[in-house]
Amino acid sequence: MTPFDALSTPLARRLRDGLDRICTVMRADQWGVAEESGLNPTQAHVLTFVAGRGATGMRVRSIADHLGVAQPTATDSIGALVRKGLLTKVADPEDARAVAIRVTPAGHDVVRGLGLAITSAERALETLSMKEQSTLLGLVIKTIRALQQAGAIPPQRLCVSCRYFRAYVHDDEDIPHHCALVDAPFGGRHLRLDCPEHEQAEPEALDAAWKVFDRGADDLPMST
Ligand code: SF4
Repeated sequence: MTPFDALSTPLARRLRDGLDRICTVMRADQWGVAEESGLNPTQAHVLTFVAGRGATGMRVRSIADHLGVAQPTATDSIGALVRKGLLTKVADPEDARAVAIRVTPAGHDVVRGLGLAITSAERALETLSMKEQSTLLGLVIKTIRALQQAGAIPPQRLCVSCRYFRAYVHDDEDIPHHCALVDAPFGGRHLRLDCPEHEQAEPEALDAAWKVFDRGADDLPMST
């Protein structure tokens, strides 16, 4: 026992406060990067998201749902991006009466520029060792999953929710996981947060895979 047990605010609250300070920097980063492209952060987010969803395009409701923003907010941002020539509206290939939103070639150029921008938050994360970054990635994934389960954020295209993901199937601490789509092993440092090839696993398979991943992560707290 130490007096600090009684004096300290709960650990989760201090973590939240620390993450909040990091988020403040990240929001400032997002404004800076987006403004350089003549966008605001929501427009940059919408543009990047639609660009990552392939050539068929997406409906406005789907964009709003995935990004966790109100439909009018998504509609306003899409309207601004269409006027700037970065998005275009086309007939939805699955329903000619509906409208799909696609990225234009100019939009792809802007997305490339946004992706190349190095932010101060990224520089700070690079000061962590590769092992620390890998461990942090696993913890971020666990936190994202908890937020998803609480309904606070929509489903994400994470490896751990993908039907091709096989957790800890290789007897190799460096690359213990397997992607059945490309039939290759990979490590914790390779786990994806938004994979274009992601296909949602069935609920039962997802729960089983998560249990293996979660247990393995605890067994190997500094796994790479
Ligand atoms: S397809 Fe993508 S999301 Fe699925 S396991 Fe492979 S890398 Fe991960």
